[in-house]
Amino acid sequence: MPVSLLGPAEIRRLAADLDVTPTKKLGQNFVVDANTVRKIVQVAGVSASDRVVEIGPGLGSLTLAILETGASVVAVEIDHRLAERLPVTARAHDVPADRLTVIDADALRVHTLPGEPSVLVANLPYNVSVPVLLHFLETFPYLCSGVVMVQAEVGERLAAPPGSKVYGAPSVKAAWYGRWRLAGTVSRQVFWPVPNVDSVLVAFERDAEARGSEQQRRRTFQIVDAAFQQRRKMLRQALAGVLGGSAAEASVRLERAGVDPTLRGEQLSVDDYARIAAS
Ligand code: SAM
Repeated sequence: MPVSLLGPAEIRRLAADLDVTPTKKLGQNFVVDANTVRKIVQVAGVSASDRVVEIGPGLGSLTLAILETGASVVAVEIDHRLAERLPVTARAHDVPADRLTVIDADALRVHTLPGEPSVLVANLPYNVSVPVLLHFLETFPYLCSGVVMVQAEVGERLAAPPGSKVYGAPSVKAAWYGRWRLAGTVSRQVFWPVPNVDSVLVAFERDAEARGSEQQRRRTFQIVDAAFQQRRKMLRQALAGVLGGSAAEASVRLERAGVDPTLRGEQLSVDDYARIAAS
């Protein structure tokens, strides 16, 4: 039997039944529009043979849209009431029990995922979207691609190229793992409760080759953080602390990496940062 989706009335009924009043603290803005969840799944290119991980399934509207394709889902939810109810909702919508695994936990503390899912699909909680994304990309190398819904400013940052106004530390860190693109805007009206920010879809594909070891990644991210903490300063000053202690020493290291010490952090690509880390 095909999987059916949640309608707006059923979502409200489920929340009332669970005594759940959506909280800002957990970024609980539930999607109540079937077209939107189907679009997210379609942009992610999910097919029946895929194993998908979803962060923050909430009441299950996006989860059921993923399951509708025939894919299997591992869903990580921090709110116990929602995590407990999700398998019940899935059963009531004709999902075979073996296609959904729910992990009742904070996504930031999850270090293993059953079945090694290769696709990430999520309507991310606004307040932790970047840390959760980076944690998943770092911890689960088998995650190859995905689509996430995030606050518009965050999405623009994740997909920003070097030199653009919104390019920042999250842009460089995201680029460490692969390529990112904005994949559409989402109306506030599809959420309950209606948020006071705009949302976008961001798609990513992991690069085939890792950019470096875990040690190289840590060192690169340390340099990225230092460069953007003082983004108005030239690199030789902003990076003095992490490259030897003085502006003169930083200049030598930067020149060795082929980077002009008078540039600012927002002008460098992730490859430039990786070369500085290796210099
Ligand atoms: N996927 C659902 C939808 O689209 O309707 C809900 C999305 S809502 C924006 C975010 C969800 O993430 C909520 O269910 C919330 O409880 C959950 N959440 C918040 N912080 C979390 C965390 N650290 N780990 C796992 N889930 C989290």
